[in-house]
Amino acid sequence: MAPRFFNTYSREVEEFEPRDPRARPIRMYTCGPTIYSRAHIGNFRAYIFEDLLQRHLELQGYKVHRVMNITDVEDKTIRGAREAGVPLQKFTEQFKEAFFEDASTLRIKRADEYPAATDQRYVDRMIEMISALISKGLAYQADDQSVYFRINKFPEYGKLAHFDLTQLQSTGRVKHDEYDKEHIGDFALWKAWDEADGDVKWDSPWGPGRPGWHIECSAMSTALLGDQIDIHCGGVDNIFPHHEAEIAQSEGVTGKKFVRYWLHCAHLLVDGQKMAKSLGNFYTVPDVLAKGYTGRELRYALLRVHYRVPLNFTWEGMNEARESLTRIDEWLARLREVAEGANAQRPTPNAQRPTTTFEDALDDDLNISAALGFLFESIRETNRAMDQNEMDAPSANAWLDWWKRINTVLDLESETDVIIPHEVAQLAEEREKVRREKNWKRSDELRDRISALGWQVRDTKDGSKLTRGAGTE
Ligand code: AMP
Ligand code: ZN
Repeated sequence: MAPRFFNTYSREVEEFEPRDPRARPIRMYTCGPTIYSRAHIGNFRAYIFEDLLQRHLELQGYKVHRVMNITDVEDKTIRGAREAGVPLQKFTEQFKEAFFEDASTLRIKRADEYPAATDQRYVDRMIEMISALISKGLAYQADDQSVYFRINKFPEYGKLAHFDLTQLQSTGRVKHDEYDKEHIGDFALWKAWDEADGDVKWDSPWGPGRPGWHIECSAMSTALLGDQIDIHCGGVDNIFPHHEAEIAQSEGVTGKKFVRYWLHCAHLLVDGQKMAKSLGNFYTVPDVLAKGYTGRELRYALLRVHYRVPLNFTWEGMNEARESLTRIDEWLARLREVAEGANAQRPTPNAQRPTTTFEDALDDDLNISAALGFLFESIRETNRAMDQNEMDAPSANAWLDWWKRINTVLDLESETDVIIPHEVAQLAEEREKVRREKNWKRSDELRDRISALGWQVRDTKDGSKLTRGAGTE
């Protein structure tokens, strides 16, 4: 069955039919970071949802070409550079680097392209698009010399957000001198230079200035993916005005349907409020790592809830993520032992086998909670089979193959080079020694001490092995 996704445009779950999946990859555009400061983990919830979407589509056999833009020029980057007293590029470069570092810590697959808004190639394209909009009567230059989109001339405006135009209020991304505009909802395509912009400016037919945020995405997406793209994503806060404006600009220029599927993820919350820079209630990836958690644990914590459900970030949630991953690690270690024949087990005709349920759940609007529920149910049942000596090597291998397949989506396997703390390693070594001397009582004591340090020791025919966690249930 084809995947089904909730399309913000129609507000319905729709069967996924890309434009031409045989002749070309799926074209996917994801709004990237505004690099005026380090991205917070709320931003990364959006990027992890997009990662899950791409990986699931790829597992289902689609080829995906994904573009993620980097917003390196808008009001906040300019203000930041001015306050820091450095050129814009020098200011944004550090946050761009940090973004890539954090994305890699969270195992987010790299996009195929990361266009930057300040690249002259895209600025040229933005100017070209704005000129086309003016010539079609869809944009105008106001007395303040800035160019605005004329929303009243685009009847579709408001369809994505299901918005009533009479309700329009100004938003933070629009300049405040709105008296120059014909309609309060008209948004800036080109912002005329003013002193606060310093040396951040480009020449244009309308005088020196810089692009508005929305036209940046329209220009970069159509330049790299063509006039019509299959999937466009972002967080729900992007729906209005950003994505609504993107539709108006792109369709205004091309006359073609811009995006087939709009997917938006709900916010990451802190104490019931959106995690946001402006509210000061945010954590960055390094903040979470500094508390002793790994990128893998954070990935799990941000991934585990359905993307359309708001997710409250808590440290308790991080601990739950750690426990869940330990269960997966221990399960894999046990399966590997059985698969290698280390703990020979007898086959049972009723042994449970892997199924496609996990992937079916993801086909259902990326229902990761159901998919993970099925994974842990499988873990429970196969552990029980192994406890009862009822898992033969071929069955264990089948489960490992299944894990390998679903892990191309999850990317949650522990790094192979797990660092075992010195104290734990020493206790394990001593335990090996007393076991050779057949001192079972001392051996059990040492096992308990190792367990108290958060590690589990298992005896195999190749000697004892250590894994993270206090033991399987
Ligand atoms: P920005 O850097 O503000 O343009 O945001 C980058 C991406 O992060 C956008 O797709 C936003 O919708 C998304 N985003 C921002 N805050 C949150 C949050 N608290 N939870 C989930 N996504 C968010
Ligand atoms: Zn965008």
